[in-house]
Amino acid sequence: MSAETLFTRIINGEIPAEKIYEDDNCICIKDIAPKAPIHVLLIPRKAIPRLADATAEDKALLGQLMLTAGDIARQLGVDDAFRLIVNNGEAAGQTVFHLHLHILAGKGYSEANLGF
Ligand code: 5GP
Repeated sequence: MSAETLFTRIINGEIPAEKIYEDDNCICIKDIAPKAPIHVLLIPRKAIPRLADATAEDKALLGQLMLTAGDIARQLGVDDAFRLIVNNGEAAGQTVFHLHLHILAGKGYSEANLGF
């Protein structure tokens, strides 16, 4: 597994990003090409390529990411209506192979009916 992903470079400060949260395990940045009024990426510091590559060793980290997503939604004032998306694999639209949760919210997005 290569540790040098785009997001590792952002985490290391080699590439600039608008950071809205960080702790020992993860960072949260604004997406460079937002697909909703609020679109941020919650990224573990550990470079797990895809969700499907996570193992039992990552159980606590994955749980913490979910709790942190809720905290960030509260911080952004959208905890009443937001969506989490994880694209897993190229065919599912994943372009950066470093696990990340998309947190999406805002008028015209949260209330859209995605059909599921
Ligand atoms: P994926 O398609 O892998 O699920 O999501 C990757 C996301 O990273 C995309 O929404 C894309 O806009 C975002 N992204 C790609 N490059 C950069 C970058 O250099 N900075 C930031 N902040 N976001 C990026």
